[in-house]
Amino acid sequence: MLIYEYKLDGTKQQYAAIEEAIRVVQFIRNKCLRKWMDEIGVSKNDLQCYCAVLSKEYSFASALNSQARQAAADRAWFAIPRFYDNCKSHKTGKKGYPQFQHDNRSVEYKQTGWKLESDGKHITFTDGCAIGRLRLVGNPKQQIAAFPIKDIKRVRIVRRADGYSVQFSVAAERTIEHTPSGRNVGIDVGLKSFLTDSEGKTVENPRHYRKAERRLKRLQRQLSRKQKKSCNRKKARKQLAKAHLKVARQREDFARKQANALITSSDLIAYEDLKIRNMVKNHRLAKSIHDAGWGQFLRWVNYYGSLHAIPVIAVAPQWTSQECSECGTIVKKSLSVRTHICTRCGVVLDRDHNAALNILAKALIGTLGHRETSGSPENASGQTASTRTRKRATGKRAG
Ligand SMILES: [Zn+2]
Repeated sequence: MLIYEYKLDGTKQQYAAIEEAIRVVQFIRNKCLRKWMDEIGVSKNDLQCYCAVLSKEYSFASALNSQARQAAADRAWFAIPRFYDNCKSHKTGKKGYPQFQHDNRSVEYKQTGWKLESDGKHITFTDGCAIGRLRLVGNPKQQIAAFPIKDIKRVRIVRRADGYSVQFSVAAERTIEHTPSGRNVGIDVGLKSFLTDSEGKTVENPRHYRKAERRLKRLQRQLSRKQKKSCNRKKARKQLAKAHLKVARQREDFARKQANALITSSDLIAYEDLKIRNMVKNHRLAKSIHDAGWGQFLRWVNYYGSLHAIPVIAVAPQWTSQECSECGTIVKKSLSVRTHICTRCGVVLDRDHNAALNILAKALIGTLGHRETSGSPENASGQTASTRTRKRATGKRAG
């Protein structure tokens, strides 16, 4: 699945119509959830049928395209099996009981209710919500019109801090001819450098958030000084949301470009299977970790790895920074010790370089690692490709 996103250009009335459609989606989702809560044995199919009942009962619900209504019911259903699974597996802590939504920001159409013009520059929504014809603004290299209409499986309108966007999900396999480079690379992600590879090369941390932090803090202060429910407060909130969006986009862009460069220049990638969620609990490190965006980066590494059909291997994190990559002696060191000096063979290496060598060696032995390329490329555009494996990893990062 490929996702193509465009910004939407329309009038105020059209944006209001989009907002109304988004509200209807939320209404249907919450109504379905209510039904599930109130009645015993409600199935996914029952919720689908319930959509038709709702549209008879509420005229505003009938205005929304019928498949879009079903997509809204699907969303309600999405939260339910997850909750059951958590209960069955006796997950510790909260089980994630499905919640009513009040901040929905998107509406999803399937294959009806919209029409894309053949030049790929305008889209018209044809259901009763009266959104009408909108212009698509985007990268000219992204040619949605190049795909047959039947391959466009979903069309989703999303509200963002800087306006409305439309996402097209296209059923297409994307593969890239990989040019072998003969390099097997282990990478260590760290706080000092964004990453260090087994050849000793480093990529510096961009620290978008820290850079933008002063501006964000100022905007946050301004917001909190504004009077509740005032017009100025609304404006300030919008500005803050825009600033956050900018940082998020910069981070995503960086992660993606680094991952692409890494995959293009290697034939095998090994990385450490970190428990990022646990590490974030350490508040001293939390901000730097979020800022570094490793999770995002590793998802893109897996994604590009599957496009290029090269192995991307996650290895268990024990001892990778403590062990000597030359002779295997354990050399204990705290986080502040930046150099690895072996007490036995005398090798001197940068701490992260040593770890990257160990990570690569572990992957090549192959007993501790597992292949990660089995997942389909759609994972990168979805949410969690590598969290699954991360959960399975045991033990803490050794430092
Ligand atoms: Zn040694």
